[in-house]
Amino acid sequence: MTEWHDLARLGVATLANYEPGRPIEDVAREFGFTDPDQIIKLASNENALGPSPRAVLAMRAAAGQMHLYPDGGTFALRDALARHLDLVPESILPGNGSNELIELLGHVFLGPGTSLVMADCAFVVYRLVAAMFGAQVIAVPMRQHTHHLPALAAAVRPDTRLVFVANPNNPTSTCVSPAEIDAFMARISPDVIVCFDEAYVELLPPSRQPNTLHYVREGRKVVVLRTFSKTYGLAGLRVGYAAAPPACIALLNRIRQPFNVSAMAQVAAVAALEDVEHVERTRRMVADGLAYLQREFEAMEREYVPASANFILVHVGQGRAVFESLMRLGVIVRPMDGYGLPHHVRVTVGTAAENERLVRGLREVLGTGPGRSGL
Ligand SMILES: *Cc1c(COP(=O)(O)O)cnc(C)c1O
Repeated sequence: MTEWHDLARLGVATLANYEPGRPIEDVAREFGFTDPDQIIKLASNENALGPSPRAVLAMRAAAGQMHLYPDGGTFALRDALARHLDLVPESILPGNGSNELIELLGHVFLGPGTSLVMADCAFVVYRLVAAMFGAQVIAVPMRQHTHHLPALAAAVRPDTRLVFVANPNNPTSTCVSPAEIDAFMARISPDVIVCFDEAYVELLPPSRQPNTLHYVREGRKVVVLRTFSKTYGLAGLRVGYAAAPPACIALLNRIRQPFNVSAMAQVAAVAALEDVEHVERTRRMVADGLAYLQREFEAMEREYVPASANFILVHVGQGRAVFESLMRLGVIVRPMDGYGLPHHVRVTVGTAAENERLVRGLREVLGTGPGRSGL
């Protein structure tokens, strides 16, 4: 009899699986923790302060309306975003997380005979989407764990449809400067689509904030992706958006599902957008947490990549082994061998108590007690 595998469309059977952060309940079951509260998850760059309180109130108030289908045109959310970003609503498309929008870009622009340019250690979903649509990936080496924009521009070929720039990048937590972006935009072919993935942009200080929406307003071939998953603390809801010239949004609209963003997510996102205090609190927590972690890694004589988002890469030797050992102590981080960084783990900035617990765990696992600096 034919196997399922043999019935799959060409290429599907060989696709790699995305390895997400281990869920707390999973780890509790596997390692025999009786109370999931004993476990902390610093693995998926979630907001340690929780969801925007305004979003929570709005969701509670909307719960009784969940028998109704969502607004398939996401009118209120697009309107709120348009005002927030100084764009026309036709320039905005909300999605089921910004990951859905990456896939929609693939649906519209990628296929056999096309290529996608990305940094070799950028967000892995770009690779997965390229593979999904049979496009070739042109992976450009990074410089000091940072996107090297001139090299990305130089790597563009006539068959290149999309160039992805994650800024700040995941998993390296590095960013490129506004001036570097302007130089890149001056140089890159006007016929290739540049997608700036700005999942953590709210965490950057004003002087590092990119002016990419300006290119959208100008009608350049630019797509800016943002999300409510990180700074706004709504990862579980799945809502993000694309900002691009209306002609691009119109194409994406053709292939999306009619109700791709749930009613609950739309309500929460509108409320979260107004929650300036939550964003501010989150910024402060991340800045304080990063300063603490970087200090501690220095005290432990561990190299790290200077971070600009709510997570940090630290050199621990055997990354996967350290990830496993930390998990036994109830601390979930992310191994990085899948990104070609087998000696690092990625740690999400948590609350002060969580960060201290991570540091204690790391010292225990690496055999560098408090106050000692052995390697
Ligand atoms: C977390 C993340 C996303 C996306 O997330 P969604 O939850 O799908 O909105 C997108 N890009 C980068 C670089 C990320 O780190």
